[in-house]
Amino acid sequence: MNILNSKSLINHNTFKVNASAKFFVNVKSENDIIELLKAQKFKTCKKFILGGGSNILLTKDINGLVIHNQIKGIRIKKETKYKMVVEIGAGEMWDKVVEWSVENNLYGIENLSLIPGYAGAAPIQNIGAYGSELKDVFLELEAINIETIENTQFNKADCQFGYRNSIFKNNLKGQFIITRLKLILSKKKKINISYKGLYEEFKNTAIEDLNCKKIREKVIAIRKNKLPNPVTIGNAGSFFKNPIISESTLTKLQISHPEIPFFKKNEEIKIPAAWLIEKCKWKGHTEKTCGVYNKHSLILINRGTASGLEILKLAKKIKKDIYKNFNINLEEEVNIS
Ligand SMILES: Cc1cc2nc3c(=O)[nH]c(=O)nc-3n(C[C@H](O)[C@H](O)[C@H](O)COP(=O)(O)OP(=O)(O)OC[C@H]3O[C@@H](n4cnc5c(N)ncnc54)[C@H](O)[C@@H]3O)c2cc1C
Repeated sequence: MNILNSKSLINHNTFKVNASAKFFVNVKSENDIIELLKAQKFKTCKKFILGGGSNILLTKDINGLVIHNQIKGIRIKKETKYKMVVEIGAGEMWDKVVEWSVENNLYGIENLSLIPGYAGAAPIQNIGAYGSELKDVFLELEAINIETIENTQFNKADCQFGYRNSIFKNNLKGQFIITRLKLILSKKKKINISYKGLYEEFKNTAIEDLNCKKIREKVIAIRKNKLPNPVTIGNAGSFFKNPIISESTLTKLQISHPEIPFFKKNEEIKIPAAWLIEKCKWKGHTEKTCGVYNKHSLILINRGTASGLEILKLAKKIKKDIYKNFNINLEEEVNIS
């Protein structure tokens, strides 16, 4: 393994923030990880697990070892008449996995097309889009405990998936390196156009005429039109989560803002954070080096040379304003380090 010193991470985070890693290494197998974790040189060193860097904001240099997961492979592990269990290496690009699934006429992850990043990070925040979440198809994952170097299996219940959340963002944050995951995909046609934006696109198409390929193509087209491409505009997708509020808070808010949009699912009430931010006139706001994307108010952008701290400062200003106006605390979706 080639350990690099003082490596710039500018091309390893989609915000394009110029922070650096004291040590940086690509790992291609579980054995690479075990060897690293056993090495005396890195015993007391802080470890940071990096995927595609599309859900992080680096506010300082990483004074430790950055482990860049490059474990590859998409393998069919089990097949029945209607289902296929697929094992995926954590270093595979997530969208390559979706592409493979659609090419094989499998159903379950086509709505999650074009989400940047690696498969290994998908369980961390239970990625979701267009009415689907990773947890809908998740079977189990394997991960190495950074402290004990033991390989551990986590089933769906162990992962404690929630809205953009899992145990790996909470109690077990930073403690495990996810190496592989298994998904159960459907060989039987299963169309999910419950999400309003997708439904609108397909409402005049008969379900018999739809398939996973058409859904993927549509999701890609919508995303390309709505979201900034990190290759040209530094960003990490939605910076904040949609806040979940109580019925009584909603009732109070409806007095001052009768038009407030909300979604109700399983007793949970979600308010679109984008609406709150837009209402407070932050959409398209620009500062010297960063700003709020003009087509989507949940997305903070690097206008060229922003530092992580400058982007964080803008995020804090927005949070403060939303709290002042709506008494709602926005929570970051992006991992700040
Ligand atoms: C334009 C754009 C659009 C996006 N759209 C969506 C969307 O629709 N839905 C959605 O859910 N997300 C979206 N995201 C966010 C992001 O793409 C996902 O969260 C993705 O899963 C992050 O993957 P990554 O490999 O880039 O993770 P990274 O940013 O590299 O890491 C994220 C976190 O996971 C940890 N981590 C990464 N890999 C591992 C591993 N193998 N083991 C243990 N810990 C690990 C890191 O330490 C870090 O804390 C979007 C981002 C962008 C830039």
